[in-house]
Amino acid sequence: MPHFVGMIPGFLRKALRERPATEDPPHVDLDHAGRPIRVALRRVTQARRFTLRVSATTGEVVLTLPRRASLTEALRFADRQSGWIAARLEAVPQTIALEPGAIVPVRDVPHRIVHRPAVRITTIENHDGEYQLVIGGAASHVGRRVTDFLKREARRDIEAAVTKYAASLSVRPAGITLKDTKSRWGSCAASRRLAFSWRLVFAPSFVLDYLAAHEVTHLREMNHSARFWRLLNGVCADTDRAEHWLKMNGAKLHRYR
Ligand SMILES: [Zn+2]
Repeated sequence: MPHFVGMIPGFLRKALRERPATEDPPHVDLDHAGRPIRVALRRVTQARRFTLRVSATTGEVVLTLPRRASLTEALRFADRQSGWIAARLEAVPQTIALEPGAIVPVRDVPHRIVHRPAVRITTIENHDGEYQLVIGGAASHVGRRVTDFLKREARRDIEAAVTKYAASLSVRPAGITLKDTKSRWGSCAASRRLAFSWRLVFAPSFVLDYLAAHEVTHLREMNHSARFWRLLNGVCADTDRAEHWLKMNGAKLHRYR
């Protein structure tokens, strides 16, 4: 996550230490070229300096400040970085609502969401080369039905891939959980449960496949040692390609809401 760190000059540090922590508002609005930028404020006891973070997935801007630091100083710091914040926000993908007419990738293939109230089961149809995700029921439930369908598809793909790699590596996971995590696509707990983001269903299949291989390999090596990568590369040839794809496109998988 990109962030900007500002040092508090020594002469200020003493003054700031003596200043009592004030009741901060939850957020402030900076002005950048006439446009407001909402900045959330977080007091952190261990913080030694002002830090600005812009989430590459949600566009949330957070200013962290030491417990006793001056709010005015912090805001002056943030204001000086407003151009940097605006540039980061430009790079955040626009949100795409899961509603009729929207185009969503399913395994990296574009599908148009079509609402047909009489349809009982969500289906995929091909109309002259255009894939359509046909959703039935009430209009107000389309978004939820699309999400439910995609989560089911994600689970099916992930379970198949995990089963394949678990057999290759002679391990057995305790179970699979689907999540909607911002920072990690997959994880492996000490309890041997694997967790994955359901949003991997938007990505090309080789990316989901690689993530499954990666987490299953952790059932043999609970670390990222040379031995871990050797084992992983022994069962999955797409490590570099998938890591690169996620680095370039991962943030975009969060824009579908
Ligand atoms: Zn890992």
